Amino acid sequence: MIRKKSSMSPFFVTDIGELCRLLELPEEIPSRPQLQHTDFPLLVSRPFLARIPKGNPNDPLLLQVLPRPAEFAEQPGYSPNPVGEFQTNKSSGILRKYPGRLVIVASGDCAVHCRFCFRRHFRQSAVPNGGVEWGSILREIEADESIREVILSGGDPLMLEDATLASLLARLAVIPHVQRVRVHTRLPIMIPQRVTEELVAVLRPSSKRRLTLIVVLHVNHPAEIDEPVAVALARLVDAGIPLLSQSVLLRGVNDRVEVLAALCERLINLRVMPYYLHQLDRVTGAAHFEVPENVGMELIRNLRAVLPGYAVPRYVRESVGESSKRVLA
Ligand SMILES: *Cc1c(COP(=O)(O)O)cnc(C)c1O
Ligand code: SF4
Repeated sequence: MIRKKSSMSPFFVTDIGELCRLLELPEEIPSRPQLQHTDFPLLVSRPFLARIPKGNPNDPLLLQVLPRPAEFAEQPGYSPNPVGEFQTNKSSGILRKYPGRLVIVASGDCAVHCRFCFRRHFRQSAVPNGGVEWGSILREIEADESIREVILSGGDPLMLEDATLASLLARLAVIPHVQRVRVHTRLPIMIPQRVTEELVAVLRPSSKRRLTLIVVLHVNHPAEIDEPVAVALARLVDAGIPLLSQSVLLRGVNDRVEVLAALCERLINLRVMPYYLHQLDRVTGAAHFEVPENVGMELIRNLRAVLPGYAVPRYVRESVGESSKRVLA
């Protein structure tokens, strides 16, 4: 049974030297101290590492998690807060940009530090965690009848203990105007063992549960989905929980039509509906992952030619000050 991060620590690798030994990578990588001592250090789960073939420094899964010197290069046009998200943070723990829905930063923790994460410079600014501090967030939601959907994000809300998550859902369920809760998570990919029967019981719809719950999975490459992940996803879908996916378009990771097609096809076969393909947010340290928008649009056109329509995600970009994400293709 997985609980707090401390009890999850056997699941994680945080030392670059250890990672390089495990994956038989060149010793020069760990010898760069700058990479180890950032405010967003290496963090990756062992089940994820087990999917990475040894000896390939350019593996698409490895690129997502291994700190690189390119993160420290001068990156004009990139900023620590690219989508203006943290100005919208009225009371701590809430992000509110779009009508009808809001985001609760439900946990400051993740089971991975994705090198391209647009919240990489705001790890510490989160977050109520134990249950006591939810009060002001819930009062804000209660006071605003326009909010029909609450998105639990973070960090990763599935880093919370089951009991904490259950109590948060119960407290949201008594707010009459809240109809849906969406859970944005990468945990079923990082640690499929997190999807226990107990967790499924917390999330499963039932005649007693008024709220509709939807899970949105963050996944970027078909090799992230091995058999244990497939089993974890099937558990959620079998329980009647709608599953959607979102991916970030990343140079060297998934910027080829064959890779995106294989990812989308694998997802629909597992009954996960591709929802969004995100254009990279221009966060400092992530410039080397950017794929130009015209290339992204061409990729989507080519995807449409090989996949059923429902398997093609919407290619979207965050833009400051707009009332929704902008659909590029
Ligand atoms: C992406 C996002 C949402 C959800 O947008 P949808 O288009 O409904 O998926 C909500 N709030 C914020 C701040 C977001 O960035
Ligand atoms: S799982 Fe999501 S929030 Fe966590 S580091 Fe990755 S992109 Fe960022």
